[in-house]
Amino acid sequence: MTCDYISLANKGVQSLSPYQPGKPIEELERELGISHIVKLASNENPLGLGEKVQQAIQASLADIGRYPDGNGFTLKEALATHLSSASQSISLDNITLGNGSNDVLELIARAYVSVGDEVIFSEYTFAVYPIVTQAIGATAVVIKAKDWGHDLKAIANAITDKTKLIFIANPNNPTGTSFGVAEWESFIQQVPENVIVVLDEAYFEYVSGGIGTDGLDGTAYLKQYKNLVITRTFSKAYGLASLRVGYSVSDPSIANVLNRVRQPFNVNSMALVAATAALSDGDYLEKSRQVNREGMQQLTQGFARLGLEFIPSSGNFVTVNFKKEAMPIFESLLKQGVIVRPVANYGMPTFLRVSIGLAEGNAKFLEALSAVLANGG
Ligand SMILES: *Cc1c(COP(=O)(O)O)cnc(C)c1O
Repeated sequence: MTCDYISLANKGVQSLSPYQPGKPIEELERELGISHIVKLASNENPLGLGEKVQQAIQASLADIGRYPDGNGFTLKEALATHLSSASQSISLDNITLGNGSNDVLELIARAYVSVGDEVIFSEYTFAVYPIVTQAIGATAVVIKAKDWGHDLKAIANAITDKTKLIFIANPNNPTGTSFGVAEWESFIQQVPENVIVVLDEAYFEYVSGGIGTDGLDGTAYLKQYKNLVITRTFSKAYGLASLRVGYSVSDPSIANVLNRVRQPFNVNSMALVAATAALSDGDYLEKSRQVNREGMQQLTQGFARLGLEFIPSSGNFVTVNFKKEAMPIFESLLKQGVIVRPVANYGMPTFLRVSIGLAEGNAKFLEALSAVLANGG
């Protein structure tokens, strides 16, 4: 007798596809037997480990046998200070820490959405939204994109009595599009207060440097809109992707609910000390932004030279359109030791997403791309 353990799974899970991460460097090294691989596939910070973070982690190693502070007091305190200003006061009870912001996204869905409820998000947006929606057995309501970005008007119009949650990424991944204050304000004021809105600002630190959006900062709306949850991460501009630490800022009542469903020690002690140190390292963040600005210019100028169209991006990546199946180009780049990201799973089969690297990696990518295209892709 055999049992089919796929069909035994929850209905939503049965038709779920796993998240497809960027190809790890070690994997390509194993496959090709080469080194000096350039990975521009997961929107990681090319600067790597900062001095302050390194020192904090080293100092914390002695305590690795102990459980971390399950409340993350020190990091929350640092975040509260960091996020508070003359015009707004953020306190510890507004903050929920997560094992990456992905953890928080899942907590929100699990806590607020049940089987049969509707969750709204856009076409061409972050793959984690459909995954957490489907895993619960909720109904994904996917809204057609406008110019590869969020059509906030259409999203507001799609709200029904069954809508429990809306996911919005600004800037958006994988397209890099962003919207500003006016569009956001006319959207958020239309959303009923019993619908939770998650504004995912994973790339906030890149735009707050003055590029892209007109300075939209979701945390400024928390006081007025209690149904709003802002998520941010240490994985991108702060350069801690591997440590898995992100957070949400929300009304204390929402944070209270998330605190009930999270794992007791969802953020490890190294992540806690590293994130606290990263917050205090303004120089690293400034360098991250600068490297990103320069790299974005280098890549987009390179695309223009090669006659390639790209979607203007506010993030630390750019998505380029080859106007033909992009998978063979991705494969050819791999053979040259360059890993970028196919986005066919997002419904964009003619595009590749390229993360901004250091000048040398960007140059190597452009050189490889030029050679691949000269060979007919
Ligand atoms: C990278 C990214 C995140 C961050 O994920 P972590 O779990 O914090 O590493 C969240 N949202 C979007 C849209 C992203 O692109």
